[in-house]
Amino acid sequence: MNLQAIIEKYLSRLPEGIASRIFNSIKDIPFVRKEIQKEIDKMMAEMESSAKPYKVESFPQIPEQGMDKKDILSLMEEIKKKEMPQWKSGYVSGAVYHGDDAHINFLNKVYGLNSQSNPLHSDIWPSASKYEAEVISMTAHMLGAGQTGDEICGSVSSGGTESILLAMKTYRDWAREKKKIRDPEMVVPITAHAAFDKAAQYFNIKMVHIPVKDDYKADVAAARKAITKNTIVLVGSAPSFPHGVIDPIAELSDLAQKRRIGFHTDACLGGFVLPWAEKLGYDIPAFDFRLPGVTSISADTHKYGYAAKGTSVILYRGKNLRRYQYFKITDWPGGLYFSPTFAGSRPGALSAACWAALVAMGEKGYLEATEKILQTAKEIKEGIRKIPELHILGDPLWVIAFGSKDMNIYQVMEQMTHKGWSLNGLHKPPCVHICVTLRHTRPGIAGRFLADLTDAVAHVKAHPGDKGQMAPVYGMAATIPFRGLVGDMMEKYIDLLYTVEQK
Ligand SMILES: *Cc1c(COP(=O)(O)O)cnc(C)c1O
Repeated sequence: MNLQAIIEKYLSRLPEGIASRIFNSIKDIPFVRKEIQKEIDKMMAEMESSAKPYKVESFPQIPEQGMDKKDILSLMEEIKKKEMPQWKSGYVSGAVYHGDDAHINFLNKVYGLNSQSNPLHSDIWPSASKYEAEVISMTAHMLGAGQTGDEICGSVSSGGTESILLAMKTYRDWAREKKKIRDPEMVVPITAHAAFDKAAQYFNIKMVHIPVKDDYKADVAAARKAITKNTIVLVGSAPSFPHGVIDPIAELSDLAQKRRIGFHTDACLGGFVLPWAEKLGYDIPAFDFRLPGVTSISADTHKYGYAAKGTSVILYRGKNLRRYQYFKITDWPGGLYFSPTFAGSRPGALSAACWAALVAMGEKGYLEATEKILQTAKEIKEGIRKIPELHILGDPLWVIAFGSKDMNIYQVMEQMTHKGWSLNGLHKPPCVHICVTLRHTRPGIAGRFLADLTDAVAHVKAHPGDKGQMAPVYGMAATIPFRGLVGDMMEKYIDLLYTVEQK
């Protein structure tokens, strides 16, 4: 029996504190240390081969003679041919949200027309601020602006993570000035996106996690207890990334309003789906600026807004709050300098392409896309419910997480990987999700997913010892003693991504 098996068999069944203590007291014994290293080396070797699959020319240094542009393009065409089929034919959870050729070609054309534009130089490209102002206004009106007395404003950022980081920095600086809070805390459901943890780390805000209930929605009573005089903001997701479940935003934002703190709705995933789902007659709980306690919302245009990758919108209730996001400096030798978001120079072409996507889709386009996605998701949910070994977590709309009481769900995910699927592995509790996009709404794709899933479950049932690549890593992450090692492995993996392939 190897160490991994021993850990799974014994340590993982003990209470976490005791398991940690036992592990820490044995991990430096030479035999144990060797076993651990063996496991890690094996996993790293497997990761290496999947991270660097191409045997094409590499450039550790700038070539002396520039490479022929024709050759560069054909090299990239070759690589694209290897990478495109998987997402194009609907084997990937999330990632590419639209993906039809005509749409992509249109966005590429818009990018080409604007490729030199930089919103930092608004004197040279006033068009960049026109596009951004309208993207913000269109998004705000989709999310309740105009139905509340307050003015809703915002910024275009580079993605959901930047939108969230900006909002958390804004609350920190707002609370410092308005409430003299020096040791800020944020109250965040454990199911909220990792970007909130990132914000806590970057901006020195204390992260106070609250649990979710059996339905995977944030626990409002726990939120109430977690708020202190240092709390600057409370967070809810609409819906959450892991389980696609909408937190009780009305109750949470109400609580925040009563305690005079900020409330952020993370609608990165749902911002461009839920408003249309509501219009289509789906039962969608309130989550946007129509709730008076909601003071900011993040909504990703580069997901279900169907823009090119690299844009998101962060919205605020009122310019007084937004101004805490701004950076300005009046005594820099480089001149009078200001920037509204983290970056200095920014890709104006992405903002232009984002504007073009919103205007080209129109309400009708979004309604049709949403209807197709929700219908496909319904088919997938019904199919999963027919597989007795699996269960769906919570009551999701289109991001569907499933787990199993009978088998290791990561082994099921591994079998799906062998069949060409790229699904998201989640933990606490162990489960896997598929985030349904327009790629999955074409005929036959949902059926293929369900048939492959049925086969995968049958395979794992017949071969329970067949561990595969990711199942052991998730197994390790699930046991506290090993979590530190998994963290080290993630760092090594990032290093690996940054290494130039030796040919
Ligand atoms: C995707 C996502 C984010 C982060 O967005 P990025 O664009 O990947 O930075 C944040 N919250 C939720 C709910 C998301 O789904």
